[in-house]
Amino acid sequence: MISKNQPASLKIGKTTRIFLDTSEHEVIRTNRKTLTLYVKQQRVIVRCPLTTTNAEINQFIETNQNWILDRLKEDLISQKETLKIEENHKIFYQAKERTIVFKEGRVGRVEVNRDEFIIQCKKINPTLAKKQVENYLIDKATEYIIPRAKGLAEHLGVGAKISEIKLRKTKSKWGHCTSQGVVQFNWLIMLAPNSIIDYIITHEVCHLIRMDHSQNFWDLVESVCPDHEKYVTWLKNHEHRLWFE
Ligand SMILES: [Zn+2]
Repeated sequence: MISKNQPASLKIGKTTRIFLDTSEHEVIRTNRKTLTLYVKQQRVIVRCPLTTTNAEINQFIETNQNWILDRLKEDLISQKETLKIEENHKIFYQAKERTIVFKEGRVGRVEVNRDEFIIQCKKINPTLAKKQVENYLIDKATEYIIPRAKGLAEHLGVGAKISEIKLRKTKSKWGHCTSQGVVQFNWLIMLAPNSIIDYIITHEVCHLIRMDHSQNFWDLVESVCPDHEKYVTWLKNHEHRLWFE
């Protein structure tokens, strides 16, 4: 809860840390023109112009209290849902929550059934299990994404534009396409359902024709993937569950 009482503040250089009830509020004063709020790992951060007073900040926080509380709740849920490759943890695989099971075995492999995501290898532990899952997803991405991206590019008449298809684990992007024809995909997307993977492939391959996000680009995406808006929303709501360190 955010207390309505006057907060105590502790000044550290240009940064003022304000402690309201149990939530910590950090104020970052910069050369910007407007006030903005965001929530990260249960911390509320206010960015504001150099001239903003504490009273103005408190007023801003108070006005946006409901929004802050909603974001804090959402942030807590996403923290809880963060994927950890550990025994009995939950993995959100192909849009269904399954239990991670560690299994001792000579051959390294992953097996998925209705409720379980079984990771098998010799002398299994969380580090080896994680490696096993990584290999599994990279193999799946190689088999699924590369031929489909090439096939779609051929279909759209831009097959020759692809110079390379890369598979990379990146923190900020699902896909990327350069004007030199390098198309890159994040293999973690293999945790998502096929419809989502197909949308990501469509999006990047369409960039071979249009590098921007103009209406023409989206019309092209729609001609291949009519439900793209649904998939964009799905990703927005679930992508935090498709990442592990
Ligand atoms: Zn794009």
